[in-house]
Amino acid sequence: SARIKSLSIRAFKSFGADVQRFNFDKGFNLVVGANGSGKSNILDAICFALCSKPSALRVGSISELQSTDTKESCEVSLELETLGPSGEEADLINMSVRILPNDVRQYKINGKLKSVKEIKDMLKEHRLLLDETSAVVHQSSVTELADRNSPFKLSSIISSASGAGRWNEEVETATKE
Ligand code: ATP
Ligand code: MG
Repeated sequence: SARIKSLSIRAFKSFGADVQRFNFDKGFNLVVGANGSGKSNILDAICFALCSKPSALRVGSISELQSTDTKESCEVSLELETLGPSGEEADLINMSVRILPNDVRQYKINGKLKSVKEIKDMLKEHRLLLDETSAVVHQSSVTELADRNSPFKLSSIISSASGAGRWNEEVETATKE
């Protein structure tokens, strides 16, 4: 697996033309700031780089991620620290995604251009790909989780977050057999 060591953002949502870098410690990290200051946008930037769908990034299309305050093109990069079998630091991978006109995303790994498939394969290998499962609990679903008035709803959130939802169909088929 791998952990996110740092995040660099330029012209993404509320972030401006100058690159802003955030370093993350091992384990628990906390982002604090006033309402509307860009906390959720930091999480959106991470999810964007990890190939979330636009709907999970609170936008209708990729182009809406581009900051409206600068002409500089939007770019998000992550420094990934891969971990060896006993949790030791093994390697550093730098991946970046840049938004080009017409919603085109340009990906790079360690400075070399890569296809979406190559990026997804790399992220999958390090268990960081977010395109299908929802391992991220967004602000909008926090209250839903906390209320947990419906056991069915709670169980569906957990099975989606853990990726177990994928097996439901197979379980159903097996039960019938
Ligand atoms: P809260 O504490 O309310 O959850 P937050 O710190 O999570 O706030 P965000 O949702 O990250 O705040 O940031 C919201 C801000 O981002 C808004 O001011 C919004 O105008 C700005 N924003 C979103 N998209 C863009 C964009 N494409 N260009 C410029 N600003 C944007
Ligand atoms: Mg927020």
